[in-house]
Amino acid sequence: MLNSKNTFFCAAPWTSLCLYPTGNVTPCCIFKNSNFLEVGNLNKMSVEMAFNSPLMVSVRQEMLSGHIPTGCLACHLLEKAGGDSYRKKINRQYLQDANLASCDSKSGEIAKPEFQFFDLAFTNSCNLRCRMCNDEFCNGLAEEIAIINNFENHKSTATKEVEIPEEYLNKNKFKMLKLQGGEPLTSPRLISILKKLIKSGRAKDISLQINTNATLLSENIFSIFSQFKQCWLRLSIDAWGKRNSYIRYPSKWSDIFDKISIAKHSSKQYENINIEIVTVIQIYNILYMPEIYRNFKFYFGVEIHFQLLYEPIYFSIQSLPKDFKKNVHDKFTQVISSSNDTYLINELQIVLNHMTEKDCSENMDRFIEVTKIFDKTREQQISDYCPEFHSLFTTKVNSNPLLPKI
Ligand code: SF4
Ligand code: SF4
Repeated sequence: MLNSKNTFFCAAPWTSLCLYPTGNVTPCCIFKNSNFLEVGNLNKMSVEMAFNSPLMVSVRQEMLSGHIPTGCLACHLLEKAGGDSYRKKINRQYLQDANLASCDSKSGEIAKPEFQFFDLAFTNSCNLRCRMCNDEFCNGLAEEIAIINNFENHKSTATKEVEIPEEYLNKNKFKMLKLQGGEPLTSPRLISILKKLIKSGRAKDISLQINTNATLLSENIFSIFSQFKQCWLRLSIDAWGKRNSYIRYPSKWSDIFDKISIAKHSSKQYENINIEIVTVIQIYNILYMPEIYRNFKFYFGVEIHFQLLYEPIYFSIQSLPKDFKKNVHDKFTQVISSSNDTYLINELQIVLNHMTEKDCSENMDRFIEVTKIFDKTREQQISDYCPEFHSLFTTKVNSNPLLPKI
């Protein structure tokens, strides 16, 4: 049971159903199954069985006995760097709803789940091919991932859509529905689910969170979102200007700019709609973090949240070489000393702490190799988007025989 040992307790494994496009069920969307425990899958079993898989019961048992589950590393690392982790956010909203008595403290099982939070990534269909994504979440990336991983006999990844447990959506008095993908707005089922919740009269008691790449937003869709208690629209945008199209290919910046304008306009029109920009900090955008923040603030006056990228490790800022880290450090230190924006200062400090905590620069060759593959297949050149990286690309040798000639 909860006691002073449980300093790392998280309500997610008690209150949330987190679903992946493969059908897998995990405690949350950032949990990593580092110990390769058996995962429940909704394509093969009931919700109750998937929610009591060896993975889920092990996480509950570890938390009840005061340990930090190895799969919770992302929260652990962010908290160490001084950040506000997903665990803390989940606990602020759902800790009071975590019915610990419903869980068998020995087996870690919950016979009758009472979900408060559905986190559904039910499709891997996506209209973009972001460099740091993978084919589990994006069907369009399969061919490039095959080259990167040297799979000679690869097959394209078909679109996967997992059956959403609609009876659970209907019978549970849940508070939050989070939809992500793939790109969730590519799926007609998403709109159908939202319309059913509106028709049944439940929408007014449910908060929505939609993580979207923004490309498919329209004025019509906002009138649907407006009928929910709250709607948080999280727009995944990783840079300002054409650099965003380099990372989040093949989006066009002028389109993205227009979509953010529509979203901003709708958030003024409907009181319950909130928009925020979510930027994943990785090697491609680390140098430009202060400009990203200032531009979104200046042009749109929107909240911007920075998330650290942990995987793939060769895109993580911890993989940067020492000299490059020093450039980032010097630039951020200058911004910190001349700014009075406490939010920006804090975010820059968290990123610096994370970057310098570990030297993973042995992954730099892989970063260069993968960047060159993407550049070749997309007819792009990193120097056109991130000129500061030029020196990193002048001396490295290409060791993968499948790689394009560079
Ligand atoms: S501690 Fe973090 S990673 Fe672990 S289940 Fe909670 S939110 Fe997920
Ligand atoms: S928009 Fe999201 S799902 Fe699509 S490729 Fe980018 S990161 Fe992956």
